[in-house]
Amino acid sequence: MGVRVFVKKLIYFKLPHIPNFTRARQYDKTEVPASMLAIKENEILANHSTFKIGGPAKYFTVVESKKELIEAIDFAEKRNLPFFVLGEGSNILYRDKGYNGLAVKIRIQHIKAQNSEIIAGAGLPFSKLIMESVGAGLTGLEWGMGIPGTVGGAAAGNAGAYGHSISEFVKNISVLSLRGGGSAGRQIKNYPVGKCDFIYRGSRFKKSDNREIILEVGFNLEKGDQEKSKKIIQGVLEERRNKSVPYPSAGCVFKNIIIDELKNKEGFLKLIPREKIKGGKFPAGWLIENCGLKGRQINGAKIAEEHANYIVNAGGAASGDVIKLIGLCKQKTREKFNLDLEEEIVVM
Ligand SMILES: Cc1cc2nc3c(=O)[nH]c(=O)nc-3n(C[C@H](O)[C@H](O)[C@H](O)COP(=O)(O)OP(=O)(O)OC[C@H]3O[C@@H](n4cnc5c(N)ncnc54)[C@H](O)[C@@H]3O)c2cc1C
Repeated sequence: MGVRVFVKKLIYFKLPHIPNFTRARQYDKTEVPASMLAIKENEILANHSTFKIGGPAKYFTVVESKKELIEAIDFAEKRNLPFFVLGEGSNILYRDKGYNGLAVKIRIQHIKAQNSEIIAGAGLPFSKLIMESVGAGLTGLEWGMGIPGTVGGAAAGNAGAYGHSISEFVKNISVLSLRGGGSAGRQIKNYPVGKCDFIYRGSRFKKSDNREIILEVGFNLEKGDQEKSKKIIQGVLEERRNKSVPYPSAGCVFKNIIIDELKNKEGFLKLIPREKIKGGKFPAGWLIENCGLKGRQINGAKIAEEHANYIVNAGGAASGDVIKLIGLCKQKTREKFNLDLEEEIVVM
């Protein structure tokens, strides 16, 4: 079986809980014309979120190139509207009241492999990048199979799993920088990995408040063995399936605890089982579970029974319900463990 067919089968038939994460979505272009771009009005953001929560964006568009991205920004700036970019919305909680600006979905999806390097458009699904890299005989990213979202979203949030994170494999990142202000101040910048300010689940791009929008990411991989890669992918998907939650979510809500960054490190270490520290991090889910919060529900939002660091939309959850649960987790863990949990998800 070819590697692409193999991986596609795994994705489509063995991961039904990850919604639509590689399927191309049909985009209905019946909307307000803005030069060449199709801009929709009052698009429901819940439809662009794995949480399935969120009210209408005043304007919404999908961009497939740098040129279209610039047109979208022009559209917002001419109307004095704020804008934000999204990939697959797998790490975002939108508010029910919606967004009074322009939401720009990045669907720049080119991909090119050359020797051990792969360059991928920011809107390419991360899983597709992995599939293509294995297909090109390269290895390195297999651990990421099954993480929903795009290459741009993964790079902005320094996505990771099983002891790896994407920053280990990034060579450089090309962005549209809006830091100069106005159309004259826009420029394409190319950051080598050392200038991307990657941290655990973060980067300069995630902090940039949409002033540095990722266009494409270059990866340094290694020549691999496709059969070995297939086995790794199979194992990763198997493990993900075993840990999956049966409701919509945005993955882990809180960052794990970096032990060395704690002010009260010694006190904290007395309260936890040290064998659960992996790679210098302690699971936030354990703390939430030990505050007795697993399964706690506020209307449609629930702390998952399967994994206490997941809040799920068990049916009709409002953004406020999720936010209340986030607040409860923070309050109880502060009281019991004397630390402040930090959100991994982006709350709009
Ligand atoms: C079931 C499930 C499992 C998950 N498992 C993991 C996991 O194992 N590891 C992990 O790290 N994450 C995990 N996540 C979280 C999520 O999948 C990742 O954070 C993912 O990389 C987000 O990609 P996205 O395209 O959906 O980004 P979005 O959610 O659309 O956006 C996230 C942030 O990135 C910014 N962004 C998106 N695209 C760009 C761009 N082109 N330029 C600049 N900024 C951009 C957005 O503005 C936003 O601030 C999981 C989520 C779910 C639902």
